[in-house]
Amino acid sequence: MAVNVLFSARPELWPEYEPLLRQGLTEAGLDFHLATDIPADQVDYVVYAPNGGQCDFTPFTRLKAVLSLWAGVESISDNETLTVPLARMVDGGLTQGMTEWVVGHVLRYHLGMDRHITQQDGSWTPDAPPLASQRTVCVLGLGALGEAAARALAALDFHVLGWSRTAKDIPGVTCQHGADGLREALSQTEIVVLLLPDTPATTNILNADTMALLPEEAKILNPGRGPLIDDEALLAALNSGQIEHATLDVFRTEPLPPEHPYWAHPNVTVTPHIASETRPVTAAQVICENIRRGEAGEPFLHLVDRGLGY
Ligand code: NDP
Repeated sequence: MAVNVLFSARPELWPEYEPLLRQGLTEAGLDFHLATDIPADQVDYVVYAPNGGQCDFTPFTRLKAVLSLWAGVESISDNETLTVPLARMVDGGLTQGMTEWVVGHVLRYHLGMDRHITQQDGSWTPDAPPLASQRTVCVLGLGALGEAAARALAALDFHVLGWSRTAKDIPGVTCQHGADGLREALSQTEIVVLLLPDTPATTNILNADTMALLPEEAKILNPGRGPLIDDEALLAALNSGQIEHATLDVFRTEPLPPEHPYWAHPNVTVTPHIASETRPVTAAQVICENIRRGEAGEPFLHLVDRGLGY
């Protein structure tokens, strides 16, 4: 019997993904039916994105797995109608894009690029930036994206700290975990990068108390998720100078509403959730490999721990 694969994501993505998924499933040797519209009780796998419109999985009576095109699964991981395995996206292209965004913005802060671009006023203050080895950067979250970014920063010779839920050993990165580890890491950090998932345990992880641990004039990069930051506390810390600048890619409400104070704040850079994105060529391979595994009775890759929410 054919394997029925439902593609449930933004319709604009279908023309790009369809040939890639067809090729991958064919190469996997599968007899399949791939479409954007299949009766729910005949679907074996859902290729899923939150904006595909699927939120009630109750009618999907023979579903074997939901395969997310997104790395962040906060909008589906607590869905009680979903009772089969949920796999998230770990995609080489997505990871590479995120590494480039993080390294680019860390270098921007490190080299004081904004200052030199905006100060075309004839002032001549020849203060060269320190070397990367004299700059401490902390990456909160050392998963697929955080570890890659931390490694790239370490390769540039930054002094890199990392923080995760469980203990890690990453060459060139001083790894911390647990509540004490977070305090230890933040108290030394000039530039903080947030690459944590949005879960109940990470909501407002940067709040008035944790931001107060940072040395004065610290900078924040948030390409993780909006709820990781207490927005009121960040605005207060920016206004007091405790935080010198924040570059924010993700927000509690997206698009960021026009009246939100982040837009007008002189010490905030807003980027419109473009730090990275899933790249179809590499992501389709991950989806097809997981369908192959499902059909061969092998364990799925990148399974979400529904209890932890990531
Ligand atoms: P992973 O699941 O691979 O990694 C998550 C990391 O966060 C792990 O190191 C994990 O620790 C750590 N973590 C989770 N909960 C806690 C906690 N309570 N305390 C401390 N550490 C914790 O995710 P990815 O690296 O693939 O992605 C990270 C996030 O990036 C996504 O969830 C998504 O929100 C965001 N993202 C943003 C994009 C953008 O364009 N802006 C694009 C893609 C993703 P441990 O390793 O110990 O489990």
